[in-house]
Amino acid sequence: MTTTTNQLPDNPYLLLTPGPLSTSKKVKAAMLRDWCTWDQDYNQLVQSIRSRLVTMASSKPDDYTTVLMQGSGTFCVESVIGSVIPKEGKLLVLTNGAYGKRIAQMAEVLGIYSIVLDAGETKPVNVKQLEEVLKVDSSITHVALVHVETTTGMINPIADAARIAKQYGKTLIVDAMSSFGGIPIDVAALNIDYLISSANKCIQGVPGFGFIIARKESLKACKGLSRSLSLDLYDQWETMEQGNGKWRYTSPTHTVRAFDQALQELEEEGGVARRFERFTRNQQTLVAGMQRLGLQTLLPSELQSPIITSFLYPDSPVFSFDEFYSRIKQEGFVIYPGKITAAATFRIGNIGDIHLPDIERLLAGIERQLFWKMS
Ligand SMILES: *Cc1c(COP(=O)(O)O)cnc(C)c1O
Repeated sequence: MTTTTNQLPDNPYLLLTPGPLSTSKKVKAAMLRDWCTWDQDYNQLVQSIRSRLVTMASSKPDDYTTVLMQGSGTFCVESVIGSVIPKEGKLLVLTNGAYGKRIAQMAEVLGIYSIVLDAGETKPVNVKQLEEVLKVDSSITHVALVHVETTTGMINPIADAARIAKQYGKTLIVDAMSSFGGIPIDVAALNIDYLISSANKCIQGVPGFGFIIARKESLKACKGLSRSLSLDLYDQWETMEQGNGKWRYTSPTHTVRAFDQALQELEEEGGVARRFERFTRNQQTLVAGMQRLGLQTLLPSELQSPIITSFLYPDSPVFSFDEFYSRIKQEGFVIYPGKITAAATFRIGNIGDIHLPDIERLLAGIERQLFWKMS
């Protein structure tokens, strides 16, 4: 029998979900002490995390800064959308799934003038249309898009979108929630102004906060723009800078300590490039195994990220996702329902402390549970 560190008595199943996800035992163990939120030890930990994230994200670390923000990833996206667009600004959102739509929804709730270019759920965001619109509408000031649309597992062409946005002088916001730390991204090379991710995705920490990698020159212009007090990105940044790692309001101390451990484990693994290889191997092994069992992916491989994969329901009247889910859970894995209207799908993530033997055990478990093929 294959064993992994995740097969502990207190961990009855592995999470194959895109966050919260399966974390290492050491990440969980790092939370077994209390930290004072304004003590120097803790603030130094925060500063170290901030600078390691900038180095990871940018080939020009001096031009960028990291702001940590309480809450789940959505709170961090909302802090950017609500804090960086002036009253007279206008946001263009490129969408092809639920997370892109959520950005558009934020703009609506916050009363930000915006337009949405939707590509549908199974096509990459439309960069050609972006250029056509930017050519004629000079009132647009900001462009936002999602890197990996976790709704389907699609990887969007951020380099192409970034090139066009910059050609027209727009501020660029990228939701890289489910990709940062698992897919190499250089914010300086892509000219990204704000990149958003969270603790509980590819860096393999536990939930509780997210972070924004921001170009200093862009963020400096945002004082007083925020439409929210607690989600004010500029104020949070200023407090962290002036207080040497101090947060405004209670910080998620245990989560931050666990994140520090998770970052260390990412470094020990060999950095983002090595992690990208592991996730890619996991994903390719998963798809090859599923296809062998007669299950097909929603997306063609060229649009597919190494993060999470959507599979079409098998073509059988007997198939029910609820039954499939509970059978696979008994095998020791939690999978994810689908989230699109275009087709009936379920999703399997392969990020987190998940390794090839785990994927092989999963495939063996699924093979035992092909109930729609049994009679
Ligand atoms: C996970 C995720 C988010 C944030 O979701 P939360 O539930 O708030 O953590 C945002 N965008 C993308 C692409 C995501 O995968």
